[in-house]
Formats: sequence, C-alpha cells, structure tokens
Amino acid sequence: MATINGLAPDKGLYFPEYIPQLDPTWIQKINDYSKEAIAFEVIKPYIGECIPATLLQKIVEETVNFSIPLVLINNSIASLELFHGPTLAFKDVGARFMSRCLGYFVREQPKKVTVLVATSGDTGGAVANGFFDVPNVEVIILYPSGKVSTVQEKQLTTLGKNIHALEVKGSFDDCQQMVKTIFTEAADFPQLFLTSANSINVARWLPQQFYYFYAYQQWEDKKNPPVVSVPSGNFGNICAGILAEASGLPIAHFIAACNANDTVPTFLNGNEYFIKKAVPTLSNAMDVGNPSNFVRILEIFQQQLPRLKEKISSVSINDEETAAVLKKVFAEYGYLLDPHGAVGYLALEKYLTNHPTQKGIFIETAHPVKFFDVVEPIIGQQINVPETIQAQLQLQKKAMMIENDAAALRAYLEKL
Ligand SMILES: *Cc1c(COP(=O)(O)O)cnc(C)c1O
Repeated sequence: MATINGLAPDKGLYFPEYIPQLDPTWIQKINDYSKEAIAFEVIKPYIGECIPATLLQKIVEETVNFSIPLVLINNSIASLELFHGPTLAFKDVGARFMSRCLGYFVREQPKKVTVLVATSGDTGGAVANGFFDVPNVEVIILYPSGKVSTVQEKQLTTLGKNIHALEVKGSFDDCQQMVKTIFTEAADFPQLFLTSANSINVARWLPQQFYYFYAYQQWEDKKNPPVVSVPSGNFGNICAGILAEASGLPIAHFIAACNANDTVPTFLNGNEYFIKKAVPTLSNAMDVGNPSNFVRILEIFQQQLPRLKEKISSVSINDEETAAVLKKVFAEYGYLLDPHGAVGYLALEKYLTNHPTQKGIFIETAHPVKFFDVVEPIIGQQINVPETIQAQLQLQKKAMMIENDAAALRAYLEKL
C-alpha cells in the first residue's frame, strides 16, 4: 500500500510501526554472509507477507548485484563507494528495489501504471534505468532545463520505450511543485493510475539501509565502530543509516554533510528550524532547502533532541571548500572524489580533527565522471570516461520541452 501510494493519506510520510531489532549474534557473524543474504535479512521484517519470500530473494539479488567496496584513503578515512551501479550513483539501489516491488504490486491492475517523478539529476536516471521495459508501467520524468549535468541528462533522455522525459523551463523545486499539483488533481485523470517514485517512497528509502551493513562488514576494527559521514540533501540516505543503527548495527556517530543548503546544520547547531529556498551549488543533488526525510529522523529519536544531537552532528561545506578538498585528496592520495563525496570527506575530516581517537567512513554517493563538467576544471585534467557512459553520450537526447506550469503537465497527461 505504502509503495503504491507514496505519500500517506494525511499527506505525511509513511513510517514503520516499530523498528525491528536484529539478533546481536547475527551482527557478530556478519562477515559470514553474502551481500544478498544481508539485504534479505534486513528488509524482510518491513515486507512481512506482502511479497513471497522466494520473490523477495530474487528482488534483493537484482537490487545489489554490483560491488559496494570500502576503499581506504588514508589511516583514518575510508570511502564506501556506492557508484558501481548502472547509473553511477547510489540511487540505483532504491530505484531497482522499488521498481521491482511496484511491478509486483500492480501486476493485476487493469490500467497501465504511470510513474511521475521530478528529479534534480540522479533520481531521474536511476528511476529510468530501474523501470526501463517493466511491463505495464510508463515513466514520466520532469527535470530542470540546463540544471543537470551532461551525463545525468543523457541517462534520463536516451532510453526511450516506456521512459518519457519532460524538460521543464524552471528549477527542480518547480518540477516538484508541478508533480505535487497533479497528485492533488489525480481524480481528474480517471484513465490513468498515477504514482510517484521520489525518495520519500518507503520502497526507495528502506533498502538504503543495506549500505551501512556492507560498510560495517568491511570495517576491520569491529571493536571500534566507524563514524559515518553522509552527503545529504533530502536526508533519505542518512535516515536509512540511522534506522539501521537503531536496529542494532554498531555505528559510533553520524555526520550529515551538507553543502550551502544548511537548514539542518543550522538547526542542529542550536537555532530554529527554518525552511530556505534552495541555492545552486557544485553538488547539485544536495540542493534542497526543505529536506523531506528529516521528520523521519526526529521520529526515530522520538523527538528527543538531546539524544539525537549526541548521535548526529551536521556541518555545511561551501563550494570553495568542496573544490579545494577535491583537488587536495586527488593530489595527496590519488583518489578522485565527486563533488558530493568531497563534501562528505571534508565533513568527516573536520570531525576527526576534534575526535582524534576515532576513525571513519564517508559515503561516496556518485562516480566523479557523472560530474565531469564540475570536476575536470578543478583538477585541470580530463577524466577517463567508462565505455558504458561513452556509448550513452553518443545517443540522441529525446525530451519534450514544457513550460514551468502544472497546466502544461496536465495537458500532456490528458493526451496519454
Ligand atoms: C541524491 C543524492 C544525494 C543526497 O541524498 P539524500 O538521500 O537526498 O540526502 C547525495 N549525493 C548524490 C550524488 C545524490 O544523487
């Protein structure tokens, strides 16, 4: 139900009734298990009887069938690389899991399902890839014209078949507003079965817990669990990590690493929570002024702020610092960060300076090539483009330009 609806009937976000607790012996033996076995064990309590076990097994196998390595950068910092999936960003895991669940839940629907999704860049590519050729599902992606990277645009405009791209003359916030407006008017489209695939959907959010188990599995010093720094925008990824910790996974501390969009850092450092208009930065996937998933973090801590602040800190990193650290880490360690990972790295480095006995992991959320437009000028070199991406860059973009206006989207849907 929650997967199909996306948003709860009261317009709030879905949240599990209780947080399942993992058997401590299972966690101690984590190195004995495969990636697939871990994913199955972690997600099973949330699925209950909704999906038959054999099918769930198959879904998680397809969801995590690429490597998720932990790579040491120096003595105290390691990178958890989440960019080895088909669209080179961490959103592949959530999108693959959700598309398969939705495909199952709507299998007996008489109407075709239409998935509407607004993207600031990476969601669109991951959702397009996850739903490509899924029977009975049409996907419509809205993206802000001129505000996504070259690779991101190719990933969402070149697949064709059941994937349709709308290039909106406006910002990401405008795209999101158009989608929201259409959902309030869904009754006007009786011929369509509309649903959304944005990051607040539980089927995209919950499987992100897997990463944190894989990080811990590859962490050698199990007696001293890692500090984990997560580049954050809408706070879905970090919130999944915090949920994993609340289920029993040992994590010493979380850092929510933000760019100039500092709603949460400002709040956690003692001020009011006020929503800001998003400003554009080098790490565009984190340009969010009103992070949707932050309420879920408050819920995990049952609104107890002092406890929350002990476990999570947050810092804002500006574009200058992002570029400088990207350049420094490449020069010193030969490791090329993407702009989002650079924010995570620097946030962790700052924290460890004040906590010198600890060590940590930052989440590298995208492959640097995905942002070659930003990265190449910073390091003054061209980056090797993997073959799969080179082939995609040659493909013809197919997108329909539309006005920044819900009426334009309505007109498009009426013709479907
Ligand atoms: C989406 C995204 C983020 C932000 O993740 P949230 O779950 O929205 O906090 C960070 N980095 C990259 C590369 C992304 O695509």
